[in-house]
Amino acid sequence: MCLVTSSNLSIGPPVKYSWLGIKMFLKLFKQLRSILLGEKMNTLRFLGACREVGRSGVLLETGSEKILIEYGIKLKTPEEGGEPKYPRKVGTDLDGILLTHAHLDHSGFIPSLYHQGYKGYVYSTATTFDLSHILWKDTVKLARLKNHTMHFFNSDLNRMKRFEHRVTYGQQFEIENCTVEVHDAGHIPGSASLLIDTGEKRVLYTGDIRTTDTQLLKGRIPNFRDVDVLIIESTYSDRIHPPREEQERELADRVRETLDMNGIVLLPAFAVGRSQEVLMILDKYNIDAPIYLDGMAIEATEIVLKYPEFLRDPKRLERMYSRVKKLRSNKERKKATEHSSVIVTTSGMLEGGPIAYYIERLYDRKDVSIILTGYQVKGTVGEILLRTGRYKKENLNLKVNCFYEKLDLSAHAGRDELFDYVKTVDPEKVYVVHGENCEGFAAELKDGLGYEAYAPKAGQLFEL
Ligand SMILES: [Zn+2]
Ligand SMILES: [Zn+2]
Repeated sequence: MCLVTSSNLSIGPPVKYSWLGIKMFLKLFKQLRSILLGEKMNTLRFLGACREVGRSGVLLETGSEKILIEYGIKLKTPEEGGEPKYPRKVGTDLDGILLTHAHLDHSGFIPSLYHQGYKGYVYSTATTFDLSHILWKDTVKLARLKNHTMHFFNSDLNRMKRFEHRVTYGQQFEIENCTVEVHDAGHIPGSASLLIDTGEKRVLYTGDIRTTDTQLLKGRIPNFRDVDVLIIESTYSDRIHPPREEQERELADRVRETLDMNGIVLLPAFAVGRSQEVLMILDKYNIDAPIYLDGMAIEATEIVLKYPEFLRDPKRLERMYSRVKKLRSNKERKKATEHSSVIVTTSGMLEGGPIAYYIERLYDRKDVSIILTGYQVKGTVGEILLRTGRYKKENLNLKVNCFYEKLDLSAHAGRDELFDYVKTVDPEKVYVVHGENCEGFAAELKDGLGYEAYAPKAGQLFEL
């Protein structure tokens, strides 16, 4: 009897099939198959958030459909001055607009398309639409106040409401021949990652993501299948977050120490997401003092509570929100600072909002703590305070004698989580956007993990 096996037939050294080689072969096979079957070419044009954070926008074209994924703005710091920066222009002949979440760097320029005459749908979650509307209204107000070019008006915001198509996590919907799946992105309430199946390609657009838990939201990587193309944010691709629990405890300790001195704690926070997260942390550590909420954070928290299905523990936030006192006038603000208290207010980088009222009156007091709860962009009032110890705003230049510090309560995935995300999704191609280190991260994905990875430039077109 003659036994023939592949091993005893081989001549010379055994051939090693590397994973990279197999991937390359599969890719060539797929391309050849597409050509033979006459499949349509899918393209991506990157309109913004290219090698920077801000003004996100990607145009996905399939040959028959044109889908715009986000259209945001980039606000300038007072040092830079002037009007916001906008993404590359796009026509209004679109089949649909997809929006991942309310932050203005993703949503801020969408109303301008309705102003220009777009009459199609924009798809997002209920929380995102409601939060976006308060931010859009504020944008109109600020543009008018600062004498900036008006790209849309309140009338456009009212008119676009009937084109808003509300979707939720786990839902699938169609835009012409494309199917879109909505997944929880764990970033802020209502934030979504979108998986678009064009028939030829499955494109996953992450939006902003957080894959580990916060007090407000559950973080995780959804179970995506067969993703060909991944477009991923990379805000923290070069930084590892300190342990979350440690940061929370630090916040609670500082609050307690200040209250023990009969002092006042100022917690400047972004209205959307961070203010609610800070309230949840104060609740977790049973902070026993009068807690006040001020500015746009009040309206944002009410919206967030309107859609409890997007929250990790809505009952806790509800309990905390009913406990906190809401401040709406300077008279109430003055009263709140006449005793020991905790004040959560906007804006997160001290650029505007009621925080100015408090700092301008309390900057000299040693029993006051200012705890910055978010990333401070270079050149903002908050970043200048951390760097110089001075509060510089318009014609004020004050030496701050309060205690001040910044904690990392980020709503973004850190470096390690971003790598895990890419490996879990395991796409054919990766486009890295929304970061200062896009090129570095793309190079690491390419050289270290063997992915076909790009850091697109604004305006660049890619065939998928
Ligand atoms: Zn965001
Ligand atoms: Zn963003």
